[in-house]
Amino acid sequence: MSGDPTKFDVIIAGGGLAGLPLALALAQGGFQVAVVDVLDPAVDVDPEFDGRVSSIAEASLRMLAGLGVAQHMQEHLQPINDIVVTDGRPGETAAPLFLHFDHTEIGDAPLGAMVENRHMRVALRKALANSEGVTLMAPDRIVSFDVAPSHVSVTLASGILLAGALLVGADGRRSQIRQQSDIQTVGWSYGQSGIVTTVEHALPHDGVAQEYFLPSGPFAVLPMVGNRSSLVWTEETELAEALLGLDDEGFAAECAKRFGPYLGEMKPVGPRWSYPLSLQLARDYVRPRIALVGDAAHGIHPLAGQGLNLGLRDVAALADVLVDAQRVGLDIGALVTLHRYERWRRFDNVSLAVA
Ligand SMILES: Cc1cc2nc3c(=O)[nH]c(=O)nc-3n(C[C@H](O)[C@H](O)[C@H](O)COP(=O)(O)OP(=O)(O)OC[C@H]3O[C@@H](n4cnc5c(N)ncnc54)[C@H](O)[C@@H]3O)c2cc1C
Repeated sequence: MSGDPTKFDVIIAGGGLAGLPLALALAQGGFQVAVVDVLDPAVDVDPEFDGRVSSIAEASLRMLAGLGVAQHMQEHLQPINDIVVTDGRPGETAAPLFLHFDHTEIGDAPLGAMVENRHMRVALRKALANSEGVTLMAPDRIVSFDVAPSHVSVTLASGILLAGALLVGADGRRSQIRQQSDIQTVGWSYGQSGIVTTVEHALPHDGVAQEYFLPSGPFAVLPMVGNRSSLVWTEETELAEALLGLDDEGFAAECAKRFGPYLGEMKPVGPRWSYPLSLQLARDYVRPRIALVGDAAHGIHPLAGQGLNLGLRDVAALADVLVDAQRVGLDIGALVTLHRYERWRRFDNVSLAVA
């Protein structure tokens, strides 16, 4: 490993659902950006890789449209018209008292949209291909980084050397950048896992999302394009593992017991996934020449469907702060600049996480 490093304004570790929008936003602001991700880009768009379907708030959708992303996933967006929250027990009909959030009470626009994560990743990559100023380095990994007074230098496993004014950790819950910057976290495990699978049903869902509170935790039925819904089903981790191990018939019967008859005959289709659930909040979001965004800064329970929406708000805030600083000739990696971002985002993230 020798020679001069390739220079960028910002180096982003993690080209996931927060890292790539940040790269696009910074490129729009005139920055030269490198994105380093450990995964081969072909892997995380495979239908077997990630079964999650994300609820994207209207504000996040507007942001993704501004970044040239939403246009590439239009046919995969399922509007959320209503949200119904109720409780009950498996095998019984839902309790008669429930909360109903109807989009027509606040305007004409839907409450948001559901989109499969893999379609969002494809759309992000298409937007990246149309954008100048972003270099994607994947698969590769950061072996080490050194923060100097005027820049941060990064060494990749491939031997490539990079230098930038700022290194951003958008590398998820187990963030290498957070750990190696000695940023502590607070939080706990819920001792539960979120089972995720897709079901097909006979009747249309009309864009209604159902949150069904069962004794073991929430069972969410989230509308997808067509007569399909995504289940996010919370269970104690041991039971979740047992459910995942059932044969197709047994698993379908357990789903049906909780799903109820309201969408007619239903059957699970495709793979099943399980995600351990925990709360994890970084104590700090910044260090000199280092900033954290997305799950690297805050990992929350998926119940509210807000983790990614918070990450996208981090992206908007950090891009805004950096563009502002650059415009008036300030150092984008200086702590005084980065503290503006931290002050802006930490309160919002913590309030939602503990709500
Ligand atoms: C069951 C479930 C349902 C959810 N539903 C919703 C929802 O409906 N709405 C919502 O807003 N949120 C939802 N979330 C949360 C949402 O999925 C996350 O908040 C979001 O994926 C975080 O994106 P991220 O880019 O910060 O992290 P990640 O998605 O974890 O991406 C991190 C990226 O960094 C890369 N990486 C990792 N380590 C390194 C390294 N050392 N160097 C370089 N690259 C690295 C990874 O390959 C990956 O590409 C849900 C979560 C779960 C578990």
